[in-house]
Amino acid sequence: MSQVRNILDLSMDEKRNFLNSFDFMMTDCDGVLWNLIDPIPGTGAALRDVEAAGKRVIYVSNNSVCPDSVYERKIKSIGATYRQEDLVHPIHTIIYYLKKIKCRDLIYFIGSDHTKNILSSAGFNVICGPTEKFDADFRKLVAAVKDNQPVKYVIWDVDLNYSYPQFLRAELYLRDPKCQLILGATDYRVPIVSGFDLPGPGYLMDALEAALPPGKKPIILGKPGIELGEILMEKYAISDPQRVLFVGDMLHPDIKLATNNGFQSLLVLTGATTRKQMLSSEDSTVIPDFYADSIAAISKLIQSLPIQSSL
Ligand SMILES: [Mg+2]
Repeated sequence: MSQVRNILDLSMDEKRNFLNSFDFMMTDCDGVLWNLIDPIPGTGAALRDVEAAGKRVIYVSNNSVCPDSVYERKIKSIGATYRQEDLVHPIHTIIYYLKKIKCRDLIYFIGSDHTKNILSSAGFNVICGPTEKFDADFRKLVAAVKDNQPVKYVIWDVDLNYSYPQFLRAELYLRDPKCQLILGATDYRVPIVSGFDLPGPGYLMDALEAALPPGKKPIILGKPGIELGEILMEKYAISDPQRVLFVGDMLHPDIKLATNNGFQSLLVLTGATTRKQMLSSEDSTVIPDFYADSIAAISKLIQSLPIQSSL
């Protein structure tokens, strides 16, 4: 049983130290700022209060299926500030990475049409498929999936239509030692409504990784990837990861992202994780530094401090 403290149970000095301990607040969105249908009360005010205290707020989601225009509408609807440059999700990070390495190679992409179009529009050479169905005919299957294209990157993000032929094609490309696997969202659970979730893409990605040649490791550009953490540090010119507070509602990938990259972490109980689940976790890599019933508790914490001492 882990011991994690609620930020509102801290002493006045501890609250002040907590607030002064970070310059960047990175926050997940689904389950922290809003749930599937409605905004979570007080979240916009909390983000405004954090910014008024001199912190930079950055939105870090694993949901690339949701268009940026929807993020903009939702963030504005809760009364918070939307800045395109401060919205991070896997397809953005993937493009950042590919531009950084000056990728001109052929990419095999498994993901939604929406994210595939973003990748193609950014100028990358992307192929997908196959999309046809195969009955019990391995000859046809192999003929369709083994196209011998010179793919150097297999990129896998969320797709609601994953198929065995896609899996096979990815594995065949990855037999080339020069072909690299890049993963986006690796979530194991996908919350739908309170008390009901679905298995996420992480299980399928683990299966592909298990089929790869020994020692071949993916680059993970969604949460909880170390490579995502490195990009966040670089993009926002962060020199000390301890000056980052990551706020999330899931142990994996949110808290694990923080642990993987040396960020502080705050678990909020408005989403996928209960207090009981948090306290009963045996995995030290997903135990948060603090928890709160909601991100709105940060407003209460700030307002509880004398004005001078919160600066
Ligand atoms: Mg979430």
